[in-house]
Amino acid sequence: MAEETKTLNCITCPMGCEITATLVDGKITKISGNSCPRGEKYAKEELTAPKRMLTSTVEIEGGMLPQLPVVSKSVLPKERILDCAMALRSVKVKAPVHEGDVIAENILGLGVDIVASRDML
Ligand code: SF4
Repeated sequence: MAEETKTLNCITCPMGCEITATLVDGKITKISGNSCPRGEKYAKEELTAPKRMLTSTVEIEGGMLPQLPVVSKSVLPKERILDCAMALRSVKVKAPVHEGDVIAENILGLGVDIVASRDML
């Protein structure tokens, strides 16, 4: 029976509670240090299926700048972030683009759209 302890900071709100998780044979058996239930949910997700927002840029033709900043509409699996960033390297859009316009729909079939994070005229 292998027991380990992991410490992480909850990033769900500005309190930034330090959470301690005990794992036995890779399974979470105890979570402490969280001030509310959202911390427990965060810790479980972070230790089993971590997710992250993606921010990047894509090439834009005819815009006031050569690159358009983009962001994922919601979180993506952390292990697929690099694949998504690589996929965006081949995306090219034409100005004008408005904040929130979908730039890459359902990226890599992960169910998340990539949208413009600013207007580009
Ligand atoms: S555990 Fe709750 S109070 Fe603490 S940082 Fe997370 S969301 Fe905020």
